[in-house]
Amino acid sequence: MKLPRFKNEPFTDFSKPENRKKMEKALLKVESELGREYDIVIGGERIKTQEKFYSYNPSKKDQVVGVLQKGDAELAKKAIEVANEAFKDWGMTKPEYRVKIMLKAAQILRKRKFEFAAWQVFEVGKNWAEADADVAEAIDYLEYYSRWMLHYAEGAPVVKYPGEKNEMVYIPLGAGAVIPPWNFPLAILLGMTVGALVTGNTVVLKPSSDSPVIGAKFYELMKEAGLPDGVLNFVTGPGSTVGDTLVSHPKTRFVAFTGSKEVGIHIYELASKVQPGQIWLKRVIAEMGGKDAIIVDDEADIDSAVKGVVVSAFGYQGQKCSACSRAIVVESVYEKFIEKLVAETEKLEIGPARDNYPVGPVINAGAQQKILSYIEIGKSEGRLLTGGEAVRQDEGYYIKPTIFADVDPKARIAQEEIFGPVLAVIKAKDFDHAIEIANDTEYGLTGSVYTKNRKKIEKAKKLFHVGNLYINRKCTGAIVGVHPFGGFNMSGTDSKAGGPDYLLLFLQGKAISEKVK
Ligand code: NAD
Repeated sequence: MKLPRFKNEPFTDFSKPENRKKMEKALLKVESELGREYDIVIGGERIKTQEKFYSYNPSKKDQVVGVLQKGDAELAKKAIEVANEAFKDWGMTKPEYRVKIMLKAAQILRKRKFEFAAWQVFEVGKNWAEADADVAEAIDYLEYYSRWMLHYAEGAPVVKYPGEKNEMVYIPLGAGAVIPPWNFPLAILLGMTVGALVTGNTVVLKPSSDSPVIGAKFYELMKEAGLPDGVLNFVTGPGSTVGDTLVSHPKTRFVAFTGSKEVGIHIYELASKVQPGQIWLKRVIAEMGGKDAIIVDDEADIDSAVKGVVVSAFGYQGQKCSACSRAIVVESVYEKFIEKLVAETEKLEIGPARDNYPVGPVINAGAQQKILSYIEIGKSEGRLLTGGEAVRQDEGYYIKPTIFADVDPKARIAQEEIFGPVLAVIKAKDFDHAIEIANDTEYGLTGSVYTKNRKKIEKAKKLFHVGNLYINRKCTGAIVGVHPFGGFNMSGTDSKAGGPDYLLLFLQGKAISEKVK
């Protein structure tokens, strides 16, 4: 099987009237489908539970996006059992067969791009461009991982040895749990699931309870693409019961998790405990939070740094693991930078994602409360320059883009992930000091440096300890294949999603040696 060279899915240009029209049409279609009920699916069996839960539109808080089944520990156990059963066949299928299904899914997704983006506008409050980028990323994962599967299907080279025919092949692990976050409700959920499936593993997918409808849409997409029953199982419900049961089950072979540091650590600990009857050590992929910094040097193009910080800090309301939550600025340009930063930030309008405002709502009431409490902490830790309050409260969970200046590098708002539109600006004596501050958190996900000085760029390349380092550009928006993604330290296991080695996380090597005459 030979595939054309991988090409990234282009982003939609919404300045074109025909694209705006397509998006409006998709929004109307999705709007007419809001409030429907979605089932748990285990081994192809559609299950309804007595208890339900609801997914709401964060832009319009009383609008129900979907009604979901509240799965429990029993259903989670059943799903792992079924996934283990299905693995017996799926794990033996030819990679080409699996790749064909993934490519078919990419084809369907491409056709229904606007619709999948529209669901994100309603379910997680992304504006059009953010939602479109998420769908493009999802298409990229399907195409990119398909190609890498074909590569790994060839095995790894081994050294020739007299009298023996030797080979090393890659085989799948087994049945695993995939536990994604809500903030890239299609891209990350799909990326982890497809990484596992294309390599021959079976999956129990437990979507975030803030974006379960998009999870259900993904399940239907994979069914339509031809995935056999039992290979992918879809179980909605609380992380504390469904998630914990999936993670601790003795027949779970791996866990692919993306989410907060707290839950990631909990999953890592839980999965490491060998349960009675368990015959392997579970593999855990855990991608977690960030406290990402942009360094603005005294030799930087200040206007471009301001733009980069604003888009990285407030794009999707700061709800990206890669979002800039610290701007570390060298003393001599500090005042000039913050003056421009505030002016640029105050241009951002806030409103419903459906109407495509640059800044939409945060995900839910709990998140809004948490962010507002950090803003209160910020008022005693720094100088509030702009924002600092909730707006349009009767409609949804809106918070003004907020900037604090003169923040101590050790302050809580400079150390803890807030996951909202809150930026701490920190003053550094010089470039070296800025790098020192940037590295001084428990995280290490993304970071940017704005400087025109080549020596400083080279220094940052060596010393700025992050999984994804950007120079003279924003620190968000990693592209599949171009910027393999994953962080250091408490940001996770550095899985490098969308990178050449990602699939190895779902494979194990088997060396075979045959005596020949
Ligand atoms: P979260 O940790 O609250 O939830 C993530 C998933 O874990 C959800 O599906 C949730 O239901 C599940 N979960 C919760 N408790 C569980 C338990 N006890 N056992 C098993 N599963 C459980 O995170 P979130 O709010 O969905 O997402 C935001 C976080 O994700 C932020 O910290 C962000 O930085 C991080 N994130 C990281 C990356 C990355 O690539 N490093 C990407 C996106 C988001």
